[in-house]
Amino acid sequence: MAIITNAPKGTKDVTPGESYKWHYIEDTMREVCAEYGFREIRTPVFEHTELFLRGVGDSTDIVQKEMYTFTDKGNRSVTLKPEGTAGAVRAFIENKVYAEAQPTKMYYLYCPVFRYERPQAGRLREHHQFGVEVFGAPAATADAEIISLALRVFEKLGVRDLALNINSIGCQKCRPAYTERLKEYFRPHLSEMCEDCRRRFDMNPLRLLDCKVPHDAEIAAGAPAMFECLCEDCAAHFKTLQEMLTALGIEYKINPHIVRGLDYYTKTVFEIVSTHAGSQGTVCGGGRYDRLVEEIGGPAMAGVGFGMGMERLLLVMENQGVAVPEPSVCDLFFCTYGEEARAKAFEFCNVLRREGIKADIDHCGRSMKAQFKFADKLGAKFVAVIGGDELEAGVVKLRNMAKSTEETLPMGEFYERARQRKL
Ligand SMILES: [Zn+2]
Ligand SMILES: [Zn+2]
Repeated sequence: MAIITNAPKGTKDVTPGESYKWHYIEDTMREVCAEYGFREIRTPVFEHTELFLRGVGDSTDIVQKEMYTFTDKGNRSVTLKPEGTAGAVRAFIENKVYAEAQPTKMYYLYCPVFRYERPQAGRLREHHQFGVEVFGAPAATADAEIISLALRVFEKLGVRDLALNINSIGCQKCRPAYTERLKEYFRPHLSEMCEDCRRRFDMNPLRLLDCKVPHDAEIAAGAPAMFECLCEDCAAHFKTLQEMLTALGIEYKINPHIVRGLDYYTKTVFEIVSTHAGSQGTVCGGGRYDRLVEEIGGPAMAGVGFGMGMERLLLVMENQGVAVPEPSVCDLFFCTYGEEARAKAFEFCNVLRREGIKADIDHCGRSMKAQFKFADKLGAKFVAVIGGDELEAGVVKLRNMAKSTEETLPMGEFYERARQRKL
C-alpha cells in the first residue's frame, strides 16, 4: 500500500462531510466561554522542549515516554505540544498578561496535542483539546467556576450520564508528609504491583493511587487519602469548593484516587466521567496549579484549568445518540443547458451568494438529468432550470424539490424572491 495516501498512525482526518460536528461543538464552547467571561488564547503547536520538562514534569509518563521531540535545523530541541497548559502559561508570562488586572480567564479550542501513544489502545497520537485556564485567582470559587463551565458545555450539547469526581492533592506544605505515608503504605506491596507502579514509587508515588491494574487498584483502595491529611489552608480551600458546588446545585463525589497524571497540580483535581454504557471514561480533567507560573519563570500566581479531548467528546456524543444539527450544503441549485444559460446562472449564483443564499452550479459538464441528480444529492431545496427556451423567454423554471412542484417565474421576480428567501 502506498504510504503517501495513508495518514500517520494515530492521526485522524476530519472530512468535509463531518466537519459540521466539530463546528457545532466549537460554537457551543465559544458561546459558553463568552458567557463565563473567558477569551481565547492561541499558542504555537511546538515549544522549546525545556518548557515541558519544567512545566509538565520530568517524572510524568508524558515527558518520559510520549513526547514528539526533535532537533530543528537550528539545532534547537523543540517538542510538539503534549498538553495545552504549559504553552498557555508561557504565553501568559512572555506577553506580560500577568501585569493586567487579574484574574485572566482564557480558553483554547481545537488545540492539537501530540503524544506517542500505543495505537492498539485506540488512542490518537494527535488529538485536539478544548481547555480553559484561570490565572491569578487563588479562591476556590474559580475552581467551581471552571467545573460549572465544563458542565454547562456538556449540558448545552445534550451530553448526559456524567459524574463529577473531585479530590484535593494538597500543596507543598502538606503533600510531602502525605507522600511519605503513602510510600510506607505501598512499600510492603510493591513487589506484587505492576512495573509502572514500581517505577513511579520513588518519582511520583501519587500515581500508584490511580493504577488501572485490578490487583493494584485493590491495594490502592486501602491507601490513606490525601484529603484527610490536608493542611489548614488546603482543607479550607477544599471545603469552600464543595460549598460552592453545592450552592450551584452541582452533584459531586470525593474520589481520593483521582490524582491526574501531571506533576504540577496542587489542591483541587477533578474529573468528569461519562457513565453511559459503552462510552465510560474521563471526558474532562483538570485542577489547580498554584506553583506552575512561578515554576516556569513568571511571578507567583495561582492557576486552575481543565482540558477536554474533542475527539473523545464527539465519540461520547455519538454513543449517546446526541443529535448534531447538520447545516444545508446547498439551498438553490441551477441546472442549465447551453453556454449562455450557464453564464446567466453563474451570474445569479454570484449575486445570490452575496445575499447569503447557498447557491450552486455544475462544474463538471453534466447532462440536465445528471445535474438534477447531483442537486438532489447535495440536498438542494430548490432547483432553478435555465435552458435555451427559458433564456429566450427571460424566465426561470423553479422546482421545489421537497414538494415536487414547479413554477415558471420571470427572472426579475425569481431574483427578488430568492434574495428574500421566499421561493
Ligand atoms: Zn496544603
Ligand atoms: Zn500498577
